[in-house]
Amino acid sequence: MSNVRFDAVQKANAKTPVIAVAPAIETSTYYGCNVFNRAAMRKYLSEETRRAIYETIENGATLEKDVAEHVAAGMKRWALDMGATHYTHWFQPLNGGTAEKHDSFADPRGRDESIEKFSGKLLCQQEPDASSFPSGGLRNTFEARGYTAWDPSSPAFIMGDTLCIPTVFISYTGEALDYKVPLMKSDAAVTKAASEILAYFGLGKEVVHSYLGWEQEYFLVDKELYLQRPDLMLTERTLIGHCSSKNQQLDDHYFAAIPERVKEFMKDLEFECYKLGIPAKTRHNEVAPGQFELAPVYEAANLAIDHNLLLMSVMKTLAKKHGFEVLLHEKPFAGVNGSGKHCNWSIGTESGIGLMSPGKTDEENLRFFCFMANTLKAVYDNNALLKACVLNASNAHRLGANEAPPAIISSFLGTQIYDAFEEMLNSTEMVKLAGKRGFNLGISQVPVLQVDNTDRNRTSPFAFTGNRFEFRAVGSSANCSGPITILNTALAYQLKQFKVAVDKRIEAGEDVFHAILNETRETYRASKPICFNGNGYSDEWKAEAKARGLDCEASVPLVYDEYTSERTVRIFGEMGILSPVELASRKEIFWEIYCKKLGIEARTLCDLTTNHIIPVAIRYQNILIENVRNLKEICGDNVESFKRMSKTQMDLIGCISDDISCAENTVDDLEAVIDELSAKGEGRDVAIRYHDEVTPMLEKIRSHVDSLEMMVDDQMWPLPKYRELLFIH
Ligand code: ADP
Ligand code: MG
Repeated sequence: MSNVRFDAVQKANAKTPVIAVAPAIETSTYYGCNVFNRAAMRKYLSEETRRAIYETIENGATLEKDVAEHVAAGMKRWALDMGATHYTHWFQPLNGGTAEKHDSFADPRGRDESIEKFSGKLLCQQEPDASSFPSGGLRNTFEARGYTAWDPSSPAFIMGDTLCIPTVFISYTGEALDYKVPLMKSDAAVTKAASEILAYFGLGKEVVHSYLGWEQEYFLVDKELYLQRPDLMLTERTLIGHCSSKNQQLDDHYFAAIPERVKEFMKDLEFECYKLGIPAKTRHNEVAPGQFELAPVYEAANLAIDHNLLLMSVMKTLAKKHGFEVLLHEKPFAGVNGSGKHCNWSIGTESGIGLMSPGKTDEENLRFFCFMANTLKAVYDNNALLKACVLNASNAHRLGANEAPPAIISSFLGTQIYDAFEEMLNSTEMVKLAGKRGFNLGISQVPVLQVDNTDRNRTSPFAFTGNRFEFRAVGSSANCSGPITILNTALAYQLKQFKVAVDKRIEAGEDVFHAILNETRETYRASKPICFNGNGYSDEWKAEAKARGLDCEASVPLVYDEYTSERTVRIFGEMGILSPVELASRKEIFWEIYCKKLGIEARTLCDLTTNHIIPVAIRYQNILIENVRNLKEICGDNVESFKRMSKTQMDLIGCISDDISCAENTVDDLEAVIDELSAKGEGRDVAIRYHDEVTPMLEKIRSHVDSLEMMVDDQMWPLPKYRELLFIH
C-alpha cells in the first residue's frame, strides 16, 4: 500500500549528501570577502574619506554629507565589481525578522539608455512604504511613513546579487520601530555609565561596549518529511505527534559524530559565514535528535546581533539546498529538548579589559566585584522585565522543560564567587579570590588540569561563566536585541545609582577604595534574592522564589504588562532608551503577535484534525467494523466464541470513537472561540483569552489525536511520525 508519508520517508532515506561547495582552503584567503570592510575601503575609498568614516564608526562622529557621497560612490563601485545589481536597506522590524526591499542600481534614462546610480542620500536614508510592519499604534495606515537610516557601525555586505546596508527604522515622528535603535542607545548608555565608574580606577578614558556571543541552536528536518507536515510548514512546530519510543533518553546524540548530510550543510554554512565576516567557531550535535548548534566568537553586541540575524536567514536558504528545512522554533517537538539562543553577555573596554573578569590585584578584583554586584542588582530589580523580553508564544513551550531554564529569572554565580561575596558581607576588607585551580588527576601522562572558578548549572537562566553572564532563557528564534537592550539599560541605570552612592561616601570621608568596596557589599546584599545556585526545576525553588519576591507569573500576556510598569518607564526614560509611548507600542505588538501565532496554530490544528486525522481514523475503524461483521458471520450462533474473538476489535472501535468525537467536539468549540476572538482584535484581553482558553484546547485536541496515532494502522497514518522527523538525516 502506498501513502504520502511512506513515499516521503522513502525519498528522504534515499538521499545522499549534497557535497558542500565550500572549498578546503584557509579562511584567511576569503574571510569577509562579501563585506565592505576596511580592506575593501582601502581599495575603494580615498584616505580622507576613510579617516572620516572610521571616525564615525569608532567614535560615533556625525557623517558629513559630502563624505556620505564619497562612501556611496566607493561602495557602489565595490558592489558592482562584486556582481551586485541591487541594493537594499536592511532593517529589523518588530515582527522579529529582517526586512529588505531591493532597488536596482539601474537608472534607465530616456528610451534606450541606463546607468548605474547610487548616491549618498540613498545610502544614508530611505523611506520604504512600510505600513504593514507592526507599530503597536505608533502609526496609522494613513500616515504610515517610516524611515530607514544607515548604521555605519555595522558594515554593508553582499547577499546574492544585493548590496545590503544595515539600517535603523523609525517612524515619521521619530519613534523607534525596530530593535536596533534602542540597542544602540543602550550600548551608548552603558558606555557612559561604566566609564564613570572606571574613572575611580584611573581608567576613565577607556571606551566601554557591551559584547555578545550567541549560541544558535536549531533543528534540521528532511525536506520531504517537512512538506508532509502542514503544522511544521505553517507554525514551525508539530501540533500533534506521539513521542518516539527512543528520543534523547540515552544522551547519545549530544556531541556525537555529526551525520554526513548535516556535516556537508554545516561546511557550506560556515563558508557563507566566513565570506560575510561572521566569526563562526563551534559546531556540534545538541541534546535532542536532529538538533544542532553553531556558535561564533563574541563581538560587540550590535554587530553580533546583525550577524546572528544574517546567519538565521542564510541557514534557511542553505538548508533547502541540502534537502533540509531548518527549524528555529523554540519547541518544534514536544517531549524533547527545545532550542535556545544562549546570550553570552559582558561589558568590556575596547582595549580588552573584561569588566566581568576577575583580575590579579585587589584593585582589579574590586572592579570585578563592583561590576558583578551591579549586574546582579540590575537583574534583580528588572527580573520581571527580563522574563517579559524572552517569553513569547513559542518560547513558553520551552522554558521550564527538558533542560531549558524555568520561567523565573535567577542568577547562578558558582560556589567560589558566591562564597567570596558572602565573605565580603562579614568583612570590612577586600576578600581574596583564587584564580583557576590546578587539578592533578594522578595519571602521569595527563597534564595538570586548570579548573575554572565556576562550575555550570544548566537550570539557571542567568549563569555566570567565568568572564561573562550567559542568559540562557533567550529563545532560538529571537532577535537578541530585546534582551541585550534591557541588560544594558538596567546595568547603566544601576551603575548611575551606584556612582551617586559612592560619591556620597567619598564626600563623607571614606577613601575611594573603601567607598567602592562598602557600596559593592551593600549592592550585593540588596540583590541576594536573585542569587540561586540550586536546582531551578524543583518545586521547592518555585515556592522559595515566590517568597523571595521574584516574578513567578507564567502567563505570557500578563508578563508583558511589565513593559509599562512604573519601574520600566522610569529606567528607560531616564536612560533615554525608549519613551513611555514606545514601550507601550512594543507591548501592544507583542500581544498582537501572541494572538496571531495562537490563532494560526488553532486554525492549523482544526484543519489537520478534521481533514487529515479523522478521515483516516474512520477508515481504519471501518476496517475493524468489517472484521467484526465477518467474525460474527463465521461464529454463527456461538456467541461466546464471537465475543472472545472480537474483543480487541470492539475495544479499539470504542476507543477510536471516543477519541474521534472528543477531538471533533473540541475542534468545534475551538473554532467558535477563534471566530469570536478574531473579530475582537489583538489587545491584552484577547491575548489573555488565547492563553487561558485556546492553549488548553490545543493540548486537548492533541492528546486525542496522539492517542489515535497509537491505534490506527501505521500503514494508513498520513503524517510523518516523530521517529521519522527526528531520526532521518
Ligand atoms: P558553552 O561552553 O557555553 O557551550 P560556547 O563555546 O558554545 O560555550 O559559546 C560560548 C560563547 O561565549 C562564544 O560565543 C564565546 O565567544 C562567548 N564568549 C566568551 N567570552 C565572552 C565574553 N567575555 N563576553 C561575551 N561573550 C563571550
Ligand atoms: Mg553555553
